Amino acid sequence: MKRNQIPPVHKTSFDASRIFFPKHCVACNQVIPASENFCPACLEDVWKVKPPVCLLCGDEQDHCSCRGKSYFYDGCAAPFYYTGAVARGLVQLKKRRDKDRFLFFAKAVADTVNREYKSQRLDCVCMVPMYKSRLREREYNQSEVLAQQTADFLELPFLPAALQMTAPAAGQHTLNRKFRMGNVLGVYEADGSLCRGKSILLVDDIRTTGATLNECAKMLKLAGCECVFCAVAAITSPFLAE
Ligand SMILES: [Zn+2]
Ligand SMILES: [Zn+2]
Repeated sequence: MKRNQIPPVHKTSFDASRIFFPKHCVACNQVIPASENFCPACLEDVWKVKPPVCLLCGDEQDHCSCRGKSYFYDGCAAPFYYTGAVARGLVQLKKRRDKDRFLFFAKAVADTVNREYKSQRLDCVCMVPMYKSRLREREYNQSEVLAQQTADFLELPFLPAALQMTAPAAGQHTLNRKFRMGNVLGVYEADGSLCRGKSILLVDDIRTTGATLNECAKMLKLAGCECVFCAVAAITSPFLAE
């Protein structure tokens, strides 16, 4: 497997196409040099998750608050915290299918997967699905685009049909911690013919309580999936509220 060989996302040399399609800051859309991802002001406000991390919550070990909890997934890792410039960028991921912004987050997720799961076997990538009526309304599922591009970077097969959402659920962000687990209970279905015996990388944009990832991992495991490793672009952390 050639998981460690990630092609560069952006050329640092002169790129004529950038005259017509300039690069924009991931967070504030300001035009920036082709070699950058953020403008200088937003770059100051990017919060990376620094190793060593707790692979249950994806948080830095110093901030881990998941002791004693058990999850159906076998790991969770993220390049960023959901705050500041990254949070502003991820909000836009849901509104605009901007290629550069998706590539930036997918490359960051792929780099984190290569760092945190390098000793794990990964057979394929799948995403957290969206309910069909919501997908029609929104036109695309940001989790699917992110997962597809992460799979491309990792040179792994992408299985968009491994998980389906069979009932609508209220947006997790609209509920408090207590209700999130119940909100996603029984709304996902996994296709055993696609995932039986596989070690899956489950990709999503944001992890807050982990309820969604946990429910998806549970269904994948019930369908015969061997391992589920989660990778998200950003996580929330108790330390952000301090
Ligand atoms: Zn900016
Ligand atoms: Zn933890």
